[in-house]
Amino acid sequence: MHYFSTNRVSPHVSFRDAVLNGQPDDKGLYFPSDIPRLEADFVDRLPDMANEQIAFDVIRPYVAGEIPDGTLFEICSETVNFDFPLVPITDRISTLELFHGPTLAFKDVGARFMSRCLRHFSQDNKEKTIVIVATSGDTGGAVAAGFHGVEGIEVVILYPKGKVSKVQELQLTTLGGNVTTLELHGNFDDCQALAKHALADSELQSKVHLTSANSINVARWLPQQFYYFFGLKQSQGEPPVISVPSGNFGNLASGILAHISGLPVKKFIAACNANDVVTRFLETQNYEPHESVATLSNAMDVGAPSNFVRILEIFGNKFVDLKEKLESVSISDEVTAQTMREVYKETGYILDPHGAVGYRALADHLKTEPNSRGFFLETAHPVKFDSVREIIGTFGATPPSVEELYLKQKVSTEMDNDYGALREVLLSKI
Ligand SMILES: *Cc1c(COP(=O)(O)O)cnc(C)c1O
Repeated sequence: MHYFSTNRVSPHVSFRDAVLNGQPDDKGLYFPSDIPRLEADFVDRLPDMANEQIAFDVIRPYVAGEIPDGTLFEICSETVNFDFPLVPITDRISTLELFHGPTLAFKDVGARFMSRCLRHFSQDNKEKTIVIVATSGDTGGAVAAGFHGVEGIEVVILYPKGKVSKVQELQLTTLGGNVTTLELHGNFDDCQALAKHALADSELQSKVHLTSANSINVARWLPQQFYYFFGLKQSQGEPPVISVPSGNFGNLASGILAHISGLPVKKFIAACNANDVVTRFLETQNYEPHESVATLSNAMDVGAPSNFVRILEIFGNKFVDLKEKLESVSISDEVTAQTMREVYKETGYILDPHGAVGYRALADHLKTEPNSRGFFLETAHPVKFDSVREIIGTFGATPPSVEELYLKQKVSTEMDNDYGALREVLLSKI
């Protein structure tokens, strides 16, 4: 197993180098040289297997012996040490709840796996590694929590002041220790631009070992396959239709990868908000990225989904094959809110706006297939989004981890949108 760049200019690399580089120099994405096929009875055995064992078996071929089996098993077991319940909502629709991790969102899985891989690969380094991450809310929390307390690693988070929810802000600003949080006078794009500036600053890079924990890193992308297997393990009958709330398309790409490895899935639905590049691509075959528009499901406000090329790669760029397995719909904010209200009224289940997009897309699809059933991924807990209370009047029960957050002190440093100021902070971490 090695990793090549989807742009096919940069050289092939090992798993280790793909993790450490993050992105190839040619600005493509790393992609595995072959997609492993699971043993024929793997799926039948799922109900009897522990989640950590499933995770280990799924990821092992991708790591190709570059982390010893014992260590890899430990990493897997730390990565998935919380619940992934498949909860029925109606007789044909269930939700795979991915929000039982430390920051109440699916990104915990990728972030935990990646941080532990990075720790393993940098344990012989003398100098510290600084992970820089720009966040619009969800990613930063997961990455910071994933790296919190990991030896030899410093984390610097940039988030736009006043533009994340209360719970997200507390998750970003209460960790302390090796996590430094900068509250930027600017928007998310400014945060991202500053982080990119730092990563491209070769003079700075000669002094500190700086890396991003970007969602395109293979160590964040590949472990997202795990919970598709956990979903199948709990589902019965015919292969399900799986609806995935999508923004950058990493989560969906990993599900499709799992399917190619042997996971039975009838169909995937890319559930999008008003950012409809992929929905339109599947209709017209024209891929036209555009500026993102702001929606209720803000973690999916992406106008140029970076991981979509991985989906094209999986299908060997054959549009017909892609179209047979994947459907994409765009759900407006109005319908998202209406779905949240309806589902709450009829079933008592509280959807967050991202899950609501997934639910709606699946429910609409199932109307055309009376004999199918399926599940959608509930990608984050409703308490993370202030809009939930505005729309349905409640967040439901507050998870204990959030109760604890409310008791903690916010610690952050406000910063102007100025690269010089960021550079100073980074240099102070050596
Ligand atoms: C990141 C995120 C998504 C989108 O996932 P992608 O892999 O970028 O498609 C959906 N929902 C929530 C809550 C997220 O944080």
